[in-house]
Amino acid sequence: MGVKNKPPGSRSRLISNILFLVSGLFLLTNLFFPQLYGNPIPQEPYSMFIDRVEDGNVARASVGQNEIIYELKDANAEQPKIFRTNPVLDLELPKRLENNGVEFTAALPKSNWLGSILGWIVPPLIFVAIWQFFISRSAGGAQGALSLTKSRAKVYVDGDSTKVSFDDVAGVEEAKAELTEIVEFLKTPERYKAIGARIPKGVLLVGPPGTGKTLMAKAVAGEAGVSFFSISGSEFVELFVGAGAARVRDLFEQAKQKAPCIIFIDELDAIGKARGGGNGFVGGNDEREQTLNQLLTEMDGFAAGDATVIVLAATNRPETLDPALLRPGRFDRQVLVDRPDLSGRQKILEIYAAKVKLDVKVDLKQIATRTPGFAGADLANLVNEAALLAARNKREAVTQADFNEAIERVVAGLEKKSRVLSEKEKKIVAYHEVGHALVGALMPGGGKVAKISIVPRGMAALGYTLQMPTEDRFLMSESELKDQIATMLGGRAAEEVVFNSITTGASNDLQRATDLAERMVTTYGMSKVLGPLAYEKGGQNNFLGQGMGNPRRMVSDETAKAIDEEVKSIVENAHQQAVDILEKNRDLLEQIAQEILEVEVIEGSKLQSLLDQAELPQGHTELEQKSVIV
Ligand code: ADP
Ligand code: MG
Ligand code: ZN
Repeated sequence: MGVKNKPPGSRSRLISNILFLVSGLFLLTNLFFPQLYGNPIPQEPYSMFIDRVEDGNVARASVGQNEIIYELKDANAEQPKIFRTNPVLDLELPKRLENNGVEFTAALPKSNWLGSILGWIVPPLIFVAIWQFFISRSAGGAQGALSLTKSRAKVYVDGDSTKVSFDDVAGVEEAKAELTEIVEFLKTPERYKAIGARIPKGVLLVGPPGTGKTLMAKAVAGEAGVSFFSISGSEFVELFVGAGAARVRDLFEQAKQKAPCIIFIDELDAIGKARGGGNGFVGGNDEREQTLNQLLTEMDGFAAGDATVIVLAATNRPETLDPALLRPGRFDRQVLVDRPDLSGRQKILEIYAAKVKLDVKVDLKQIATRTPGFAGADLANLVNEAALLAARNKREAVTQADFNEAIERVVAGLEKKSRVLSEKEKKIVAYHEVGHALVGALMPGGGKVAKISIVPRGMAALGYTLQMPTEDRFLMSESELKDQIATMLGGRAAEEVVFNSITTGASNDLQRATDLAERMVTTYGMSKVLGPLAYEKGGQNNFLGQGMGNPRRMVSDETAKAIDEEVKSIVENAHQQAVDILEKNRDLLEQIAQEILEVEVIEGSKLQSLLDQAELPQGHTELEQKSVIV
């Protein structure tokens, strides 16, 4: 997309440059050729003038304070002979002149008008010119010395020839759908306002690097055909205190004039980190805090009736953001821009493959299959790598072999950055996640299973199973908690059932399951053996953080042992249930796992119809219910 950098200072820069030149010339000529502006009359010493007067050679004289100009008596000369001299303080002079018959007069203070005008006017002009010079430089968007408080937002204006549209973004369909609504807001704000709907002010794009967040934001502006102010969070925060806040103010000022428009703040986490030394630093964050406060103020500032300015922001670290940013009326909409699934990757590959010459035998689907975990930027890079390889080998078109080699290159680079799964790992992850899903479907205490994905996500999860709570829950029953524990163990149980071995991938599941079981016993009093006692010391360990000392009450050794045994039995029971469920539904486990290996993400009604086929094993009974506050 082309950048139109408005040059607001170009005219004043021209003027100031001309002023500079003129005044410079004047100074030079004045220094080296003073007579140009001074008097061309030849000068004589004062003593010579007195001699001439005494000799009676002077016809007339004009006596000034700084200069005496006199004309000689010379009847033969074609021109009057005029000389000048600098006077010495001489009170006798009028008498002398009179005695020698010289016609004399006092001269008006001589005015070298041009010289004095220039002398008085030019120096201030020089200062003005210098001032103008710096101002215009800073306003011009360059890194001028006085540009501290100007927002350096780049402005992408409507009608750009290289406009980005939604067609340029693929594989992030949910995000696209979400943002299509924003485009509608921008195109026809009246329609929403007439009904009384509040147009969202802020939309936060969240997702791993390279998934197309920046690209999406540009596409929104391109689709809506409005101005697009783009600035990166890190550009707000600089050396000079107060500059960041002033820039935010300036940016919103500019945007309001161009409304409807979009302000896009990339890398919001650079200014939006939680305030109050959340990361262990005390002090030193004043500048960022001021900038953040200013941003919040500005976002609160434009009210419903005002110009339509929508603030889009992107971050790949949403967890570090200040909670104040996520409150309603600010970035209350969050759009997940995740790594693409198989079909998404294929679509992205199609976009970029259209820009290179492809061999007819290239199978993009196969390339997409081989690249789980690749983000859009990685795929764009992959196509380019393949094209480079083809060019290096002097081929006419890019072949499948080029792609295969490029994948290896890119993967080698990527492995350090994020996870790219081998075929075998992918298979294990698939069974693991389907295990969670099947147990979760039959023991729905944790919510309805809504999505299974084996697209690696972020740095931690290799795959994930998403359970959606069916309603807002504040109370959970004992059986629901047990369901949750069994679901958490479902992944590991599947690995045992299918591969008869277990991997390290389940460690987080085990951690969470054990924690929950322990809380059931020690906090919620759900154990028959231990009774309704709270063995945990509540609310004491929140200052120094978790893990500082034992959070348990002082208990006898026997009680401690009993707690451990209770926790163990809850976890083991849940594990056994999970294994039973998976053995009973072995075929379905196989079927769904194969399916997900194919498409990587299963969700919605398709997932529902698969999970509906699952059957409970014999002997699985509902436990009596006890409610707890969670
Ligand atoms: P982010 O801002 O999420 O880190 P970018 O939007 O800067 O990622 O993406 C970098 C580049 O990668 C884009 O300019 C585009 O060429 C390519 N790209 C990333 N995601 C996609 C996508 N979903 N569809 C098409 N191209 C993409
Ligand atoms: Mg970006
Ligand atoms: Zn798991």
